Amino acid sequence: MTAYRQILVAVDLTEESAQVLDQARKICCADGKLSLLHVVQPVAGPYLTAFPGTQVTGNETALTEKFRETAEHKLRELAVRVGLDPEDTMVLTGSPGAEIRRYAEQHGHDVIVIGTHGQHGLGLLLGSTANAVLHGAACDVLAVRINTEQ
Ligand code: AMP
Repeated sequence: MTAYRQILVAVDLTEESAQVLDQARKICCADGKLSLLHVVQPVAGPYLTAFPGTQVTGNETALTEKFRETAEHKLRELAVRVGLDPEDTMVLTGSPGAEIRRYAEQHGHDVIVIGTHGQHGLGLLLGSTANAVLHGAACDVLAVRINTEQ
């Protein structure tokens, strides 16, 4: 398998991120670099009002910013835990598929590593983050099948 030098690892900050990272390491050449990216989806007004009684305060922008700060903290923690430089992490706001593709292209990554649950039926029709990245990516994409029984 090709060893890549500039690897972008898209993580959703769940426990499954470890599996995605493990595979990313395997395709990284000796002097290669892994960068971690997480995308925060902006909080939308209708979502907040859909759950009366939910304990959320603040406007949409402020809430999105809070989520972004929390994600930044968690992503840096994850980097340290797996022995990566916390400076090689990035949190963006927007649509995960589009932002992951755009960031990889802008920063000259030669592969994007992403998890996939191998959606069936409706999931396949609606599309997953991996599908969104795959369609239109300017570089290679490694879709790591997530083992949910681990
Ligand atoms: P899903 O769309 O839930 O099947 O996500 C599968 C994979 O997409 C995850 O294992 C991550 O690699 C990536 N992913 C999902 N959401 C995000 C996100 N918000 N930011 C970065 N990567 C993500």
